[in-house]
Amino acid sequence: MGIWLQEEHTRGYVVNWRLHNIIHTETTRYQELAIVDTYEWGKALVLDGVVQTTEKDEFVYHEMIAHVGMMAHPCPRKVLIIGGGDGGVLREVLKHDSVTSVDLVEIDERVIENCRLYLPTIACGFSDNRANIIIEDGLKYVKNIKNRYDVVIVDSSDPVGPAVELFGDKFYRDVYAILHEDGLMVAQAESPLFFGESFAQVFGNMRATFPIAGVYLACVPTYVSGFWAFAVGSKKYHPEQPGKERKPLTGLKYYTPDIHRAAFVLPPFVRDLVR
Ligand code: SAM
Repeated sequence: MGIWLQEEHTRGYVVNWRLHNIIHTETTRYQELAIVDTYEWGKALVLDGVVQTTEKDEFVYHEMIAHVGMMAHPCPRKVLIIGGGDGGVLREVLKHDSVTSVDLVEIDERVIENCRLYLPTIACGFSDNRANIIIEDGLKYVKNIKNRYDVVIVDSSDPVGPAVELFGDKFYRDVYAILHEDGLMVAQAESPLFFGESFAQVFGNMRATFPIAGVYLACVPTYVSGFWAFAVGSKKYHPEQPGKERKPLTGLKYYTPDIHRAAFVLPPFVRDLVR
């Protein structure tokens, strides 16, 4: 029957992943970490029993959390990523020629080290000389930093363990303070179907903090329910479409300007949640 990883999303909903093998496991300072080789989805990073990213479908999530905000800004140069220890968002942000530096603030260096070793196609951006890796709690970093950013992307794990306070309104105000006067912030906002409260909390924080706030969706097959939401908060630019001065990126597998616009078209049940 082989080896199976059991991912418990709720007490009533468990997903079973058939594995070729378990490549690596360890207990880091912050979480249980595993790298597994799955039958259907390639190699995957698992943190505290939750699948974070898989080789087969990671491009959907990483392109959508990175390019919607990056393309809505006319010329993003300085970018901050909170979390994102697998390197997928970093890889995508670095595809923008306008970017001069990306600070990636990850609390757990063992995530970065293991992803560089076992998930090189996702973690390839760490070797780019524009990438600055900072091992720190994102919550603390945004409080003390004097830098100013054009785009901040919060690619945190779910609101459990070290990521809990990245879903709090204080964190959003601190991010607002380190953005340029025309900056914008994107955060992964969980599943509106399964974690409606966390979703509503993330969007509520954005709307309370920024003059312009929006929600967009993408289907991430290996995340619970596949229905995944992202929230955007912006000081100046409307995020619902790429900036007209931006030339389209080539070689992407999911994001296009039409997908960007369509992602903001919300089904009534999601609109009701954000209302
Ligand atoms: N795409 C995934 C998702 O949507 O669940 C998240 C991927 S990434 C692996 C999440 C990262 O956030 C992890 O590496 C975790 O260590 C990091 N993280 C959690 N809390 C953090 C914090 N307070 N500061 C910085 N990084 C944090």
